[in-house]
Amino acid sequence: MDPDEFRRAGYAVVDWIADYWTTLGKRPVTSQDPPGAVAAALPASPPEHGEPVEAVLADLDTLITPRLTHWQHPGFFGYFPANTSGPSVLGDLVSSGLGVQGMLWATGPACTELETVMLDWLAGIMDLPERFRSTGPGGGVIQDSASSATLVATLGALHRASGGRWRAVGIDRRYRAYTSTQGHSSIEKAARIAGLGEDGVRPIEVDPETLAMRPAALRAAIEADRAAGDVPAIVVATVGTTSTTAVDPLPEIGAICAEYGVWLHVDAAYAGAAAVCPELRWSHAGLELADSYCFDPHKWLLTGFDCDAFWVADRGELIEALTVMPEFLRNAATESGAVIDYRDWQVPLGRRFRALKLWFVLRWYGVEGLRAHIRTGVALADRFARRVAADDRFELAAPHPFSLVCFRLRAGDEASAALLDRVNGTGRVHLTHTRVGGRYTLRLAVGSPLTAEEHVDEAWELLASAASDVVAG
Ligand code: PLP
Repeated sequence: MDPDEFRRAGYAVVDWIADYWTTLGKRPVTSQDPPGAVAAALPASPPEHGEPVEAVLADLDTLITPRLTHWQHPGFFGYFPANTSGPSVLGDLVSSGLGVQGMLWATGPACTELETVMLDWLAGIMDLPERFRSTGPGGGVIQDSASSATLVATLGALHRASGGRWRAVGIDRRYRAYTSTQGHSSIEKAARIAGLGEDGVRPIEVDPETLAMRPAALRAAIEADRAAGDVPAIVVATVGTTSTTAVDPLPEIGAICAEYGVWLHVDAAYAGAAAVCPELRWSHAGLELADSYCFDPHKWLLTGFDCDAFWVADRGELIEALTVMPEFLRNAATESGAVIDYRDWQVPLGRRFRALKLWFVLRWYGVEGLRAHIRTGVALADRFARRVAADDRFELAAPHPFSLVCFRLRAGDEASAALLDRVNGTGRVHLTHTRVGGRYTLRLAVGSPLTAEEHVDEAWELLASAASDVVAG
């Protein structure tokens, strides 16, 4: 494909994406086909001779898009949002076109420096503690996901907890990680990968009302482990838990971590984006006590997957934990000590120019545009929650400080599960579920940039009318 062919085909692809977004609301949110339908529709082998891009676009229309879960659909309320946006797509396109590998400053000076500045910009607009900025001892980096951020934090914590021995001797004693019973499954996975073993993560009890970690229970677990000769290495506190968006009390948890010299990582994968709004920053109180922090612009900040923003308070400690220097990567800039080599801040060596999509997003929307997006989500969730609260057949299952509403039918688990099946079966909306206090609970998470009042109202009307059938049996 020469540049002129690329230009022509590229315009067609951009048109195709714009058409997809314009028609999205009319499609069913999820695929109606059984597993295997896509594979069965595809040829067994690739074409012998090249085909035009138009042929691929036609197949996208007939084979692929009808069999997708449409995450950008205005009726998509499942899991947490995974926003994308025009500027994000364009930034990613430029990144793909440049094809830069930013593993070292020397392999992509602008790739590295733009990333450092974007993370400082984000820290600024979210009012994150000074210690996370690159102008101090800390700094930020883009990871692919919050799961990777937790893994990297765990490795930094092991380095610290072992007094630097971990790099040489590996896991030679029982290191412990702690998170609330509501902590994300990626914490268990990180601990497993890091070699902490099956019971490496201590689940800490939560307050039954707020579902936030109980600091007294954390203290008791750390003390019990220390008494048993184990080494508490990391606490992962959550701002916006996956089930219900509970917020762990960072000031108390941070004080305990400081007392026992334990690394505090704050996982704000979804809810962190809320900190662009001053009125939602209460959720980050105590963050100055954290050793690391992450949130996913790819969830709720209009930036397509993958983009996790991860900060550490002491970049030297992290680099010491992860650095390797094979001969083929040696270069004068690294040796000068004057540059950042982001390969030392993550698990893989290679890395894409992901800062571009953030730059495009931040410049297109401006801070006010980002705040407006978050505020819309919060207001729509509240609108929905008020309808739930006003209907006696339903109850809210947890507070809704952000854009997630957890609710259920008073008639019980079976009725709530049947209700979810019914409304999802309409193809107009897609919600997911969790369990709160052991009870089956529906989750409605607002976040698609296309979602407006009419879509939240439609979701409520579908639920309210299906509830009549379900409760009547
Ligand atoms: N942490 C929390 C609190 C989450 O809610 C999620 C996903 O929803 C994750 C971590 C994992 O995010 P990622 O897909 O970026 O690894």
